[in-house]
Amino acid sequence: MSITINGSQGEGGGQILRTALSLSMCTGQALRINNIRGNRKKPGLMRQHLTAVQAAAQICHADVQGDWVGSQELFFKPRQIRGGEYTFNIGTAGSCILVLQTVLPALLRADQPSQIKLSGGTHNPMSPPFHFMQRAFLPLLQKMGAAVEVTLERYGFYPAGGGQLHMRITPSGRLSPLHLPERGLLINAYAESVSAALPRHIAERELAHIQHELGWHDKQLQLLEIDPHQGSGNVLFITQEYEYVTEVFTAFGEKGVSAEAIAANVLKASRHYQASQAVVDQYLADQLLLPMALAGGGSFTTTTWSLHAATNACIIEQYLPIKIEYKKMPNGLIAVTLTSSV
Ligand code: ATP
Repeated sequence: MSITINGSQGEGGGQILRTALSLSMCTGQALRINNIRGNRKKPGLMRQHLTAVQAAAQICHADVQGDWVGSQELFFKPRQIRGGEYTFNIGTAGSCILVLQTVLPALLRADQPSQIKLSGGTHNPMSPPFHFMQRAFLPLLQKMGAAVEVTLERYGFYPAGGGQLHMRITPSGRLSPLHLPERGLLINAYAESVSAALPRHIAERELAHIQHELGWHDKQLQLLEIDPHQGSGNVLFITQEYEYVTEVFTAFGEKGVSAEAIAANVLKASRHYQASQAVVDQYLADQLLLPMALAGGGSFTTTTWSLHAATNACIIEQYLPIKIEYKKMPNGLIAVTLTSSV
């Protein structure tokens, strides 16, 4: 059986490719995808997407055609998923997290445990940062029965890259459905500023702005200066831990943008979520769809139903007998439900 996917549908970005690769690996269906990243300024495979293709191909001994940088058409025919030890190198600051998310669902169904070493970007704008994957995404996957651990060995900021991650995966069979009707009580909240090869006052001012705005205690603020060889870069997180979910909001230091403006960005996202009472914010919402669909069901409320989520839902429905529905509720939140249609 094979499936043909139009890579320019909906958002027309890299997620269409990654979701299709994950699902071809898990279902054994061959994939032909054309117009890859058709709505992006520079369409076709970039290094991060190519590494995802190569990693997926190695893990399931796939036949592949069209696997080069810039390629807008790919054929991918998977065979059996093989656990084991793998090392992949993106070679640029392309996101390691997005590559890991691509192969993770298949490795959870492999014949033996796996260890993956991956180098590239670990903290990139427009991608899940390592801390988000570790604190927000993976704990929910673990609730669904996945046995996954991830370690950050070295930071990799855009544009230099050079970060290193290590992931250990123990196959757990099929994931269990996950229903998230509420986030529960706030247990902890804290901010962290991590800098490499930048003046210390940037991180100090970011944290001072957050403390001033939120009235937080000193122990809720952490400043980490890392080895200058792991930079240069600056990332600022606000983590909110609730009983049933943890969310991580991120902003990156930028040349020409004040430390206070960076702090204001992350505060805005964090406050918007906190005030909303949604269980998950927009990024977790699009990332939960694939594991929930593979589990055969799930539900949550979110702040926003993004084009990214809608596009991801369409690809998933092309592969699996699952119905993904969303409904705007009177309180403004979006209720998302995944129901098996078999
Ligand atoms: P392109 O679309 O250019 O191909 P891409 O392949 O790098 O880019 P997208 O398809 O845009 O990536 O997917 C980005 C993913 O990163 C989404 O799943 C989104 O939820 C996630 N993401 C983006 N920003 C954040 C953030 N701040 N925190 C957590 N996740 C994020």
